[in-house]
Amino acid sequence: ALADRLEGAWKKLRGQDKISQSNIQDALREVRRALLEADVNLQVVKDFVSEVETKALGAEVISGVRPDQQFVKIVHEQLIEVMGDVNVPLAEAETSPTVVLMAGLQGTGKTTATAKLALHLRKLERSCLMVATDVYRPAAIDQLITLGKQIEVPVFELGSDANPVEIARQGVERAKADGIDTVIIDTAGRLQIDTDMMAELATIKETVQPNEVLLVVDSMTGQEAATLTHTFHEQIGITGAILTKMDGDSRGGAALSVRKISGQPIKFVGVGEKVEALQPFYPERIASRILGMGDVLTLVEKAQEEMDLADAEKMQEKILEAKFDFTDFLKQLKLLKNMGSLGGIMKMIPGMNKLTNDQLEKGETQLKRCESMIRSMTVQERKNPDLLSSSPSRRRRIARGSGYKESDVGKLVSDFQRMRSMMQQMGQGRFPGMDGMFGG
Ligand code: GDP
Ligand code: MG
Repeated sequence: ALADRLEGAWKKLRGQDKISQSNIQDALREVRRALLEADVNLQVVKDFVSEVETKALGAEVISGVRPDQQFVKIVHEQLIEVMGDVNVPLAEAETSPTVVLMAGLQGTGKTTATAKLALHLRKLERSCLMVATDVYRPAAIDQLITLGKQIEVPVFELGSDANPVEIARQGVERAKADGIDTVIIDTAGRLQIDTDMMAELATIKETVQPNEVLLVVDSMTGQEAATLTHTFHEQIGITGAILTKMDGDSRGGAALSVRKISGQPIKFVGVGEKVEALQPFYPERIASRILGMGDVLTLVEKAQEEMDLADAEKMQEKILEAKFDFTDFLKQLKLLKNMGSLGGIMKMIPGMNKLTNDQLEKGETQLKRCESMIRSMTVQERKNPDLLSSSPSRRRRIARGSGYKESDVGKLVSDFQRMRSMMQQMGQGRFPGMDGMFGG
């Protein structure tokens, strides 16, 4: 594992009091090797390592945090940053139906992913129609029909003599007529990228104007994933990707390549042949897998704890300048969690010990709600809560992502802003009485 190999490099770093150009080179080399072993594309690796180097060299020395810990944290954070930080949900059209176009080479798992996605949406109570446009392989249409029966989702097809573009067009028309929420168009793939396939896909895209074009990438394809992504994105334009076969022993380096090369998010991960085997994409999980970490994660957590303490002072300053944002808030919540249950903490505060268990439980539930809503925000929104007070569509998206009501998100934002100005007025870093805050 990377952790073992970094050990030596770290020992060298550990003796130092700060990260420098000369003492960081061994550690960078190990990161580079780990990424290449995980099948990340070479150019992506080069860029990544050089970004890590820049960040590490520019990092402020935080007292009490060792350079090796700081370094591992920078690597981990950079991985997550490149992969996109938050889970991006599937696009939804303003007026139904939402059209999703699946793209990718043959055998990557497009047809399977089509059914997986339909099942996923059905569970969210969105109705679906799957459209079978792979007329080249005799069994392909039957495959989709069988899957459709299994998950109780209708399939639109016109047999294998029809024109794929026409099938797609009529499929979307049918969905419109039937008031269906989402149409997922399964397409044909070839074993290799060829001009006919690309032309057909481009015409389908042109015709149905999809809200999403999802590139289905087999995570076992390794280095090739990069070329593939580049070609599809350049010629068709993708809006996201599904990484399949992550149940195998692939380390998931393709995730990093796809994301970095297309700039588009990975939306789902396929983890098995069964229709249920679809998960949202969690950058942290893949980051750990790419680095082959476990051990590294523990190190990251330790480093995190020490940095949180060092952060506390900075937080104080931010509060005074009213720069406190949702990212900081999330950090505070995490600190609270690390310290144990909210009940335990509250009981230690004089005057608070009269709270009933019921009230305490409510408090914890409220904090969890806040956390899940904040986790559905983009980085930009977390850093600039004011974005949310002016945009109902952002609030709607967050509500959908976190499973709460739009009004809950609105209340979180207005409570937060109120709290921020109160904190600033008080001119100190303690949370004022949380009575009535955050829906309590
Ligand atoms: P398509 O040619 O792109 O439509 O690919 P298919 O959906 O027909 O899948 C090709 C093969 O990959 C089938 O045997 C699937 O069962 C298998 N497959 C698809 N997704 C996954 C996955 O996430 N994990 C595993 N282990 N197998 C998968
Ligand atoms: Mg297929």
